[in-house]
Amino acid sequence: MSRIAYVNGRFVPHAHAEVHVEDRGYQFADGVYEVVLVQNGVMVDEIPHLDRLDRSLKELRIDPPMGRGALRAQMRELVRLNRIRTGLVYMQVTRGVAKRDHPFPKDARPSLVMTAKRIAMPSNDVVENGVKVITIRDIRWERCDIKTVALLPNVLGKQQARENGAYEAWQVDGDGNVTEGTSTNAWIVTQDGELLTRQASNDILNGITRLSILKLADRQGLKFVERPFSVEEAKQAREAFISSATSFVTPVTQIDDSVIGNGKAGTLSTGLRDSYLAYAAGEGATA
Ligand code: PLP
Repeated sequence: MSRIAYVNGRFVPHAHAEVHVEDRGYQFADGVYEVVLVQNGVMVDEIPHLDRLDRSLKELRIDPPMGRGALRAQMRELVRLNRIRTGLVYMQVTRGVAKRDHPFPKDARPSLVMTAKRIAMPSNDVVENGVKVITIRDIRWERCDIKTVALLPNVLGKQQARENGAYEAWQVDGDGNVTEGTSTNAWIVTQDGELLTRQASNDILNGITRLSILKLADRQGLKFVERPFSVEEAKQAREAFISSATSFVTPVTQIDDSVIGNGKAGTLSTGLRDSYLAYAAGEGATA
């Protein structure tokens, strides 16, 4: 079956899904995006993702391309046309097409493109044995809280991870503290059993999965703190994991050359992964 994409009001074959060369997303990375997970035919945490899209747009002073209800209807149509049970919807809004010039154009209309694809759930090996992350310098700008399409540092970091046999790269700020992964948030569990993740600020993207996990941890009465943690603390942690809409809670069992815990997924990470999956299938789902 051929894939279908959405481009500015039209559903088109994926191979012909095109935007203009003077789209400001292409020329200036002047745009934002969201990724919503579809699991067993339902969207996971759709409303918080759309709220974050609105926030990102507002921060860049780009008008929403359409109302919330219309957008949700188009997302569903895209999922239906691509016959997706488990996968993701990618949506990108840019400031639109205009003659190339740095200031905001006066009359450009925002461009909206959406694609959808199937994804596989993480393998049993990943779930049980975890993944390796490397640490790299965080070379991004000062507004990492906005989900912009300006992802070049993230792309370079992820590539470096791959070339080092790792799944993800944890970016490290000038103080030696971990900010986040290139497409995931970073978590550790200290030797005292305390769950740690960096607090939301301009230094990280406030992950929707991160927020859901914090909510679940709170309900379960787990001890958690939102604060920066150093690479050294991370290497001495009892457990570590990453979170994102598409990786859920994925255990981390190696950071650079240091093995975390006993090299297997930790009990707290596994417990949170299970509770997140239950949440994604129930309370967090919208049909
Ligand atoms: N941090 C970065 C830099 C990301 O790109 C992402 C997701 O794309 C995340 C964290 C996780 O966010 P979410 O849980 O909303 O997928």
